[in-house]
Amino acid sequence: MNVAYYLSCSDDDSYMLPKKSDGLVCSKCGAVTAKDYLNPRFKPKKRKLDLVNTYDGYYIASERFRLFCEESDYSGLEFVQLPASPSYFWFKVQNIVRFNLTTRTSSTEFCELCQRHRSVGGFPYGKKFLADTKEPLADGFYRTDIEMGYRDLSPLLIVGPETKNKIVARKLHGLCFDEILA
Ligand SMILES: [Zn+2]
Repeated sequence: MNVAYYLSCSDDDSYMLPKKSDGLVCSKCGAVTAKDYLNPRFKPKKRKLDLVNTYDGYYIASERFRLFCEESDYSGLEFVQLPASPSYFWFKVQNIVRFNLTTRTSSTEFCELCQRHRSVGGFPYGKKFLADTKEPLADGFYRTDIEMGYRDLSPLLIVGPETKNKIVARKLHGLCFDEILA
């Protein structure tokens, strides 16, 4: 049974953090440690897309995307307006679903200084992607409890089946969906 979709998007070919990022990143491994930092000068590059992520792990949403979420009355979402690009937003999701850690999930390159893995990857598409989700998720956006990627990790975005249909009908650009089964 289809219970949800894994939502992915294109990278923005950009970094949120400025080149001089002393104090914002771990001095040993370079991962972002100032998790609430927003660069006042940051502007997204791929402006035709409604959702992108930066190489350092920030999801950036368009005004169209924000309006869609507002009209749909979704809860647990945060849109932080970008000072240098007011029609774009740092998109954060607070609704958490538990990722199913399997033997294919690998956490490597542990950094002693910031106490985090530099690399977390490997997840099975399709079946058993989420640990506790046995029924279709309610209409809305979710994030996995664990963060994945390389150096700058970010949670995976998950949507309910109804949400995916609404996004497709709304013709939002740049969003890809992979089916999650239970
Ligand atoms: Zn580190």
